[in-house]
Amino acid sequence: MAVQKKKQPRRSNTIKLKFDTSWTYAPAPESRSVAQIAPEYDLFINGTWQKPSSGEYFDTINPADEKVLSRVAAANEKDVDKAVSAARQAYDKVWRRMPAKERAKYIFRIARMIQEKARELAVIESLDGGKPIRESRDFDVPAAANHFFYYAGWADKLEYAFPNRQCSPLGVAGQIIPWNFPLLMAAWKIAPALATGNTVVLKPAETTPLTALKLAAILQEADLPPGVVNILTGAGATGAAIVNHPDINKIAFTGSTEVGKLIQRAIAGTPKKATLELGGKAANIIFEDAPIDQAVEGVINGIFFNQGHVCCAGSRLYVQESVAAEVIRKLKHRIETLIVGDPLDKNTDIGAINSRQQLDTIHRYLAIGKKEGAEMYESSCALPRKGFFCRPTIFTNVAQSNRIAQEEIFGPVLAILTFRTDDEVIEKANNTPYGLSAGVWTDKGSKIFNMTKRLRAGVVWANTFNKFDPTSPFGGYKESGYGREGGLHGLLPYLSLR
Ligand code: ADP
Repeated sequence: MAVQKKKQPRRSNTIKLKFDTSWTYAPAPESRSVAQIAPEYDLFINGTWQKPSSGEYFDTINPADEKVLSRVAAANEKDVDKAVSAARQAYDKVWRRMPAKERAKYIFRIARMIQEKARELAVIESLDGGKPIRESRDFDVPAAANHFFYYAGWADKLEYAFPNRQCSPLGVAGQIIPWNFPLLMAAWKIAPALATGNTVVLKPAETTPLTALKLAAILQEADLPPGVVNILTGAGATGAAIVNHPDINKIAFTGSTEVGKLIQRAIAGTPKKATLELGGKAANIIFEDAPIDQAVEGVINGIFFNQGHVCCAGSRLYVQESVAAEVIRKLKHRIETLIVGDPLDKNTDIGAINSRQQLDTIHRYLAIGKKEGAEMYESSCALPRKGFFCRPTIFTNVAQSNRIAQEEIFGPVLAILTFRTDDEVIEKANNTPYGLSAGVWTDKGSKIFNMTKRLRAGVVWANTFNKFDPTSPFGGYKESGYGREGGLHGLLPYLSLR
């Protein structure tokens, strides 16, 4: 008699982790009361608040509860034209003519005012963008102030930065920034432009306009001459109008590779200069001789804190085969202890995903990863009922050619691959269209130097990850863009040298 085979339940490749988490932290929310958010914001043009020509406004929401925080103006081509004319006037009549040491005083003043308003700026950043208050309070806002301090110092020392060369500013800079570090990206763009004598038209991302508008109020309070910095809110069409305006001399863009390519096409054949800081798919590489616990924490910091909303996030992990089992076990345990929830709570590690659209993108990639045959582990943590949240997730059994190992996901999702030799990992780590950053974890200095020389990435961290300093240049290779921001190198894209 034929033995009937018992039907096996179909094995799912999603595993929910469960560890003993019988105790929890008591909530420690930062107070919202320090944040003064107006119900409506106009455009900041020529030192004043001006209504948009179209009369149109759009909502900016809190991604943690989906409630409207404020309405902001949508700038169109006419508004862009007004802002560019104001910037041109300010450039010709005031800013380029002002002695550099006087320009520096304004930039120092802006830095100090950011420090004075640090708490409010941090709370607004977390409300509007969803990032944990720990991140906005301890990193974004202090780093933004430091950037202004650093470039204020260079303003009257350009002859020392570029000895025996004559430096002149380029003119009006159009600057377009994304939603992952709203205030910090504004500082990265505005500070070097002002220090080198350029004037600015800046557009924040449509989902995170509030700290840039707060910065506009700081510029006004700092008595920055009208027109030197203009801040226009709006979506892609406003950005495109800035890029295409004939009187813009330089474009500085941080955002997706897709829009970066559109910008390159739009300015091809024009005298406009550009710096583009685009996507990334950073490789973190753990060798068997690395301090494993430190490396695991570095990997966690590199991809999960700040929701993976970092272009240089360590979204691929290459771990040497001999320690792979240990590293994966420790990572699974650690993601289970990460706290996902209210961005304003000081205990929160992973806040809200910036928008529904971004959350949908992340979910799409989770489905792709499973379909490609990778094994997915996600934390068992409960998610808040409202708002856009995502559990920290790890994929193992990932192939180099899998889309989750090649494409930027921009979420708390880590793809883990293994390797045996140095040559193999170099080959694999470099095998993406991107080249923004990488991390190497090893006990051997010689290995660090060997790796850093051969990794095609603008920044390589050794035994640490996601560390920034205004004195250090940042930027990419290949489809991660070109030009450098930060440090002495960050002055160059705003100068013509003779
Ligand atoms: P992300 O995927 O990080 O949102 P985007 O590249 O879409 O990145 O957006 C980054 C910035 O570029 C935002 O301020 C956005 O409004 C702006 N932007 C979007 N489309 C265009 C465009 N065609 N031209 C100029 N700027 C654009």
